[in-house]
Amino acid sequence: MTDKQLNFIRSLVSERELPTNDRGVYVAKLVAGNAPEPNVTQSSAIIDWLLNDVPRKPEADAVPAGRYAVEIAGKLRFFRVDTPTDGKWKGRTFLNEIFGGDFDVDDSRGTPIRSGKSEIFAAIAAEGLDAARGRFGREIGKCGCCGRTLTDEVSRASGIGPDCAEIHGIDREALIAASPAADRLAEEAEQDAYQQAEIDAENAWLRAAEAPTADDLGFEQWERSRGVDITDPQSGYDRELDEHGFPVGY
Ligand SMILES: [Zn+2]
Repeated sequence: MTDKQLNFIRSLVSERELPTNDRGVYVAKLVAGNAPEPNVTQSSAIIDWLLNDVPRKPEADAVPAGRYAVEIAGKLRFFRVDTPTDGKWKGRTFLNEIFGGDFDVDDSRGTPIRSGKSEIFAAIAAEGLDAARGRFGREIGKCGCCGRTLTDEVSRASGIGPDCAEIHGIDREALIAASPAADRLAEEAEQDAYQQAEIDAENAWLRAAEAPTADDLGFEQWERSRGVDITDPQSGYDRELDEHGFPVGY
């Protein structure tokens, strides 16, 4: 076995999930320096086996599947992360960058990124998974989780559709509050509240202006309109009224 072969076997083992069968145990021992050294041909066979039959470990620093927008070195970049859950690619994480024209293509996968993945995953993690997903959705108008078009206002403002928010436990109101759109939305809400207060004040004035006066109704009717029963002795009114309907002596 050459040094080059041993180093390659080491690097393959470090990123793969060795099975617990005899071959797996032997290769683990070999890497640890506790097994008889294979010859060059046997080493090639071990390398082939590791490459073709031993699945990779999930990438430790990878982020979950989804779509993310994150600023890296001052540039806003868009990514799609796929994590197949079955078949040959189970356990792998694929990172793709999505560029402008890709957004016109429904469900675009973008361009695979092969180097510098860790830096991008770290940038997404630093931004926060939900925040980066939400930003994707807000910028593009498609859900940061599943990529479906966002239609209602809360979905567009948060960047996440209602179903995905539930599945992933994403607090959409918190995303909206933390987003740059929050100030605009808060201002809109304030304007709405101000407008409503103006309308309420105007209505109150109109009601007061239209409310009947004692002269309009006569005293008895007026008091009744205010909920006072002047025929009730307890109300304290003298029931004897003058020709204007006012209590005598009032
Ligand atoms: Zn979604």
